[in-house]
Amino acid sequence: MSVEVRFLGTGDAFASGGRSHACILVTAPEGRILLDCGGSSLPAIVRACDPGTIDAVAVTHLHGDHFGGLPYLVLQQKYAPRRRPLLVGGPPSLEARYLEAMKGLYADFFHSPSPFEVKWTILRPTPVRLGPAQVSAHSVEHVPASEPHGLRVRIGGKLIGYSGDARWGPALPLLADGADLFICETTTYSVPDPVHISAKELSAHRDELRCERLVVTHLGTDSLANIASLGLEHADDGMTIAL
Ligand SMILES: [Zn+2]
Repeated sequence: MSVEVRFLGTGDAFASGGRSHACILVTAPEGRILLDCGGSSLPAIVRACDPGTIDAVAVTHLHGDHFGGLPYLVLQQKYAPRRRPLLVGGPPSLEARYLEAMKGLYADFFHSPSPFEVKWTILRPTPVRLGPAQVSAHSVEHVPASEPHGLRVRIGGKLIGYSGDARWGPALPLLADGADLFICETTTYSVPDPVHISAKELSAHRDELRCERLVVTHLGTDSLANIASLGLEHADDGMTIAL
C-alpha cells in the first residue's frame, strides 16, 4: 500500500468557492494522520473515513480554519465512543486554545468523563513521533499571534511538506526540500497579501523548491477566479494523491 493523501478541505478562511477549511487526510500502512483540522472539517472527515481510524492530528497554526474542527472531532469521538488516545500536535498554545474553544462550544463536554484521552505534543523543528508519522514544525511568516508553522511529515517511507499559511520566505524551500509532495498555500493568484503567498510569487520561486511534486491549496477568491491560469497543480476538496 502506498501513502494516500486526500484533500478534505482546500478553501481559505472564508470558504471561498464553497470549499471546506484546511484539512488533509494522510493514510499509510502505519496509520492515519490529519494535517490541520479546520472549522468545517468534521463532515468531510466523516465522508472520507471512520474518524475512529484517525491516529493523530498535526496542526500548523492557531487560526480557526486550521484547528477549529478539533472540538467537533473530539466531541464526535467521545460519543463514538473512542477507546484509544487521539494524538494531537501543534504550536505551543494549541492545547490551551482548544480548551477555550471547547468550553465555549460545548461546556457540558466536561461534565462527564471522556472514554479516551487527547494526548498533546508541542511540535518543534526536531522531528518527533506523532502516531504513524515523524513530524517536525518550522516557523513560517504569517500572523505571529497564530504561532504559524509549516510541517514536514515522514510517513510510509515518504516525505510530505506543508506550508500551512505563509507568505513567501526562506522557510518554504526548507519545508519542500527533498519532499515527495509539497503542499503549499496560494490564497491569491496575483493580489499581494501581507500574510499569504500568491500563485504568481510561488511560480516565480518554483526552482527554489526541491520537491518531487507541488500541489497548491487554501484557494481564495482571486486564485479561484484565475484557476485556469494558476500554472500550478491545485487541489480540490476530495482530491486524492497516491505517493
Ligand atoms: Zn488559513
